[in-house]
Amino acid sequence: MIGKRTIADLDPKAIEGKRALVRVDFNVPVKDGVVGDETRIRAALPTIRALKGMGARVVLLSHLGRPKGGGYEAKYSLKPVAAALELLLGSPITFIPDAALLDAADATRRLPRGGVALVENTRFLAGEETNDAATADVLAKLGDFFVNDAFGSAHRAHASTEAVAHQLKPAVAGYLMEKELEYLGKALAEPARPFIAVLGGAKISGKIDVITNLLPKVDQILIGGAMANTFFKAQGASVGTSLVEDERLDMAIDLLSKAGPKIVLPESVVVAEALEKPGTRREVEWHAIPDRCGVYDIGVAARTRFAMLIKGAKTVVWNGPMGVFETPPFDEGTVAVAKALAAATAKGAVTVVGGGDSAAAIAKAGLEEQVSHVSTGGGASLEFLEGKVLPGVAALDDR
Ligand code: ADP
Ligand code: MG
Repeated sequence: MIGKRTIADLDPKAIEGKRALVRVDFNVPVKDGVVGDETRIRAALPTIRALKGMGARVVLLSHLGRPKGGGYEAKYSLKPVAAALELLLGSPITFIPDAALLDAADATRRLPRGGVALVENTRFLAGEETNDAATADVLAKLGDFFVNDAFGSAHRAHASTEAVAHQLKPAVAGYLMEKELEYLGKALAEPARPFIAVLGGAKISGKIDVITNLLPKVDQILIGGAMANTFFKAQGASVGTSLVEDERLDMAIDLLSKAGPKIVLPESVVVAEALEKPGTRREVEWHAIPDRCGVYDIGVAARTRFAMLIKGAKTVVWNGPMGVFETPPFDEGTVAVAKALAAATAKGAVTVVGGGDSAAAIAKAGLEEQVSHVSTGGGASLEFLEGKVLPGVAALDDR
């Protein structure tokens, strides 16, 4: 269905006893040697457990943070992740400190069936970020076939995501990767209609390509967040002290004329004298923003309208918060949209949330289980919505 081979497409005999080299996304926050948020580790468990269960020897690859790429840096070591994974899986993890050492491949062969090893941070290897073939070759020696389950890293062509998938075959998608491609791909390729996109966040500039790619596909685009301010100003309104992109005004006018009624802007907004002065907040119409105030959220009227449209949709893609959701009470518009997505899902709509801050917002609202899919890949899901080919996906075997 996703156009790429998956674990389910492999002959069980090609898995049993073989070494599965699995690229996962264990790029988790680590503080004082302890993993802070295990979400990304948990997201890879279905693939790891399935391969274990099929008798594979599972060898995991991941990056963590942004080391300089010249070798080991203690604060970016995956050691703490190995400890967290050991607890989650309830079985011991063999830690391989350096993929480039001769005994690394031996260590993978010594794993028992169903055993799991974690290789140290791929970004300690000089050739990782340059997608170097020789580095990919070093990695390819650690497995008999390749599984990519790191959707969140698939937009980067690195040795452990792209080059290795050419050198180690078969190269297939893991369960998380499959789920991401299925939900995001289906929403864009064959959406049940009405299909509504909800876009927000800080800047239009980062999302122009998303708007341009989505416009011909969707029935409507609802726009909130600071992005809306640029559209207000483009139509001649004053936006006070709001975050606005003056260099994108022409682009906003152009988009509005292209999109016609497809673009729905908030008719009302919540303004305040400053983020730190929630007591000064009030709701005004979009063309009546006071000079000494800034916009920090969509207004109640806009929330009601957005919620009504979302609840009437059969497919909803949401990227970007409606306001400064990190600072209550300016999270109310974002929470209202999150609730509307949950309500639409309950009525049978397919709802997909992409983007790091949007995922954080829906988790904060406690509604992540009540939408169809929350993407684990911030940048990768954005590039997917832009219609770009993700190199880590493209390199996998076609169906
Ligand atoms: P995502 O990570 O989901 O793609 P973005 O990174 O594009 O989302 O945008 C999220 C940021 O946008 C948040 O930090 C939020 O505070 C900010 N934001 C939303 N609305 C406003 C606004 N009206 N003024 C200033 N910042 C805003
Ligand atoms: Mg963000």
